[in-house]
Amino acid sequence: TNVELLAKKIVATPRQPLRISRHDLTLGASVGISMFPSQAADAEDLLGNADFALFQAKAAGRNGFRIFDLELRSDIQHRKELEQELRLAITGEQLELYYQPIVGGGTGIVEGYEALMRWNHPKRGFLPPSQFISIAEDAGLMTDLGNWAIARACQQAAVLPSHIKVAVNVSPNQFRSASILVKLRRVLEETKLDPKRLILEITETAILSDESLAEKLLREIQAIGVGIALDDFGTGFSSLSYLQRFPFNKVKIDRSFVAGMLDLPANLAVIRAVLGIGRDLGIAVVAEGVETKTQVDALLREGCSIMQGYYYGKPKPYSEIVADLSVQQLTSHRPIPAEKSIRLVR
Ligand code: C2E
Ligand code: CA
Ligand code: CA
Repeated sequence: TNVELLAKKIVATPRQPLRISRHDLTLGASVGISMFPSQAADAEDLLGNADFALFQAKAAGRNGFRIFDLELRSDIQHRKELEQELRLAITGEQLELYYQPIVGGGTGIVEGYEALMRWNHPKRGFLPPSQFISIAEDAGLMTDLGNWAIARACQQAAVLPSHIKVAVNVSPNQFRSASILVKLRRVLEETKLDPKRLILEITETAILSDESLAEKLLREIQAIGVGIALDDFGTGFSSLSYLQRFPFNKVKIDRSFVAGMLDLPANLAVIRAVLGIGRDLGIAVVAEGVETKTQVDALLREGCSIMQGYYYGKPKPYSEIVADLSVQQLTSHRPIPAEKSIRLVR
């Protein structure tokens, strides 16, 4: 367009070297463009938008131009707003953990739950992690959020039946933070949770940047008694040698593999390989994202017996799993004492 041609000229002109007393000087220019009346109602708006576009042009490496983009601006404003609000979320008790059952596929017995964070935003309602975790990461808040999750999960797990385990997600930066061991020890001591009932879920990204630091940390965490699961296996780098080199207690096969296992032979092959290595090395294998009976049957046929997914239950609030567990306990773990039943009969 004409505007773009003009902008290109404006950017190019000052780049001609100027000779000033034996020095060659070049200047640079960046241009931000906003349209009237389609993008702005008045002069103030127009200048503001052009300024925003100019900022973007500079951020993209200077000596260029940018045309204002309304969607981009509202997107960036939205993230900034959420970032501000997120800072208050922990202290304002707006965060909550939902729990999704992890189940023995053959038996239907719940062995534990994965804790999944939700933000009960005062205006927007319950937000899933996809809407705030990347913002928290960029703002350097993820370690705080994650440590909050570990503490809350330990508190809540400590009063559940003692055969129930709880898995908590740990972000790469949180895992590598210097304080994770101190924090873990303190929380376990405060809540009196048996460390064997806590599992930390990490992804390969947590290990990639410094493998020997990661290995040391993994061993120190396990020395406390806490288990480690490798999450989302099959996405990203997914080197089978990781399973040999690092001391994982569990590996979770990503749900994309479970979804495709019946149609794509390659997915089935990956699942088989992970199950084989798991068996040889004594690492428990969990299938994620199990949604149908057909998937359950196929996984059982392959010898995968631990499962998690909507088929067995969506993530739900703590109060609901407490209710589920006490119903289970009443019906299966607590037979009516003989004395009482006699009295009842009489
Ligand atoms: P993830 O660790 O892979 O957690 C499993 C995700 O898959 C959850 O999404 C869960 O709701 C969803 N899911 C479970 N079963 C099924 C299924 O059968 N079908 C489908 N389509 N989805 C299923 P959610 O709760 O939205 O969490 C998304 C991600 O956010 C998690 O993925 C995890 O990476 C991250 N996250 C959640 N809570 C925390 C936390 O406290 N700390 C950290 N660092 N990350 C967290
Ligand atoms: Ca997880
Ligand atoms: Ca996962």
